[in-house]
Amino acid sequence: MNQLSASQAIEETCSIVIDGKAFAKRLRGEVAEEVASFVADTGHQPGLAVVLVGSDPASQVYVRTKMRQAEEVGIASFQHLLGSETTETQLLSLITLLNEDDSVDGILVQLPLPEHINESAVIEAIDPAKDVDGFHPINVGRLSAGEPGMVPCTPLGCLLLLQDRLGDLSGMKAVVVGRSNIVGKPIGQLLLNANCTVTTLHSRSRDMVAECRRADILVVAVGLPEMIGAEHIKPGATVLDVGINRIENAKGEKRLVGDVDFDAAASKAGGLTPVPGGIGPMTVACLMRNTLAAARQRSHTSVTGGGKTS
Ligand code: NDP
Repeated sequence: MNQLSASQAIEETCSIVIDGKAFAKRLRGEVAEEVASFVADTGHQPGLAVVLVGSDPASQVYVRTKMRQAEEVGIASFQHLLGSETTETQLLSLITLLNEDDSVDGILVQLPLPEHINESAVIEAIDPAKDVDGFHPINVGRLSAGEPGMVPCTPLGCLLLLQDRLGDLSGMKAVVVGRSNIVGKPIGQLLLNANCTVTTLHSRSRDMVAECRRADILVVAVGLPEMIGAEHIKPGATVLDVGINRIENAKGEKRLVGDVDFDAAASKAGGLTPVPGGIGPMTVACLMRNTLAAARQRSHTSVTGGGKTS
């Protein structure tokens, strides 16, 4: 390849890459400005409580990132690190306290929880108005009914990136691979609400390749390293890779890869998120956005509802 075609190839790849890291930075900047004016208007600093049970190293990293980014955008952060022997009753008591604490607008319980704790019971104990993860059944129902509510952070990050890249999504054919409650299903719901024609695929789906190839928008949230190749992608499609997989090569070197084979997909896609640097940063930025939204909503409810101001 001569000098010119090499630089052309680099330029082409750059135009395909959807830079979630840069978009998330802009989003955090906007949230920081809005937090400052919210504080000036109300005298209340939005607060985020993050609860971690146990010592899972990946969860510890996520929690540290969330706490740091909260501080950076002017959101007060309250960290609750609980030992892995914490009982469900103890965790539920903490959530009750956080629900009642006016300095806390958002509550995030880092998942997964240890096996002896019932995740659903914990999620359902969180005040839906403070459920910044959007996992409470009331918020799930609101999303499904197309009503305003807390939207899960990763799916929201996907929607914002798609709208930024493609504008109005109406009428586009979207295929979501994965149907988990926290990623696949809410992404499908958001895309449906944005007037896409949505197909959801899962481990029992047939004709995966053919189904994926029909997609103008392909969102992959499975957790299988590089399972999506060029053959799954319609030329020019926009591909979001939600997967985060840690793999090790023969030399024992570890690296992160997505569910999409980036190099193969780049030869077909019109837009593609990298891993890392794609959806991951958007997830945390959207958590900040949700916390500010919760603070606004709660302060509004306090004023109009005549209750305590936060
Ligand atoms: P889950 O394990 O909860 O769900 C995986 C989904 O993939 C299931 O619906 C499963 O189908 C489906 N699936 C499994 N194998 C196949 C297959 N061969 N073909 C088609 N579908 C298949 O995972 P999550 O949704 O929690 O997470 C998915 C990925 O996203 C993970 O890598 C996770 O680390 C990452 N993630 C990234 C985030 C970010 O911020 N970037 C945030 C959250 C998650 P079935 O229902 O039939 O079992």
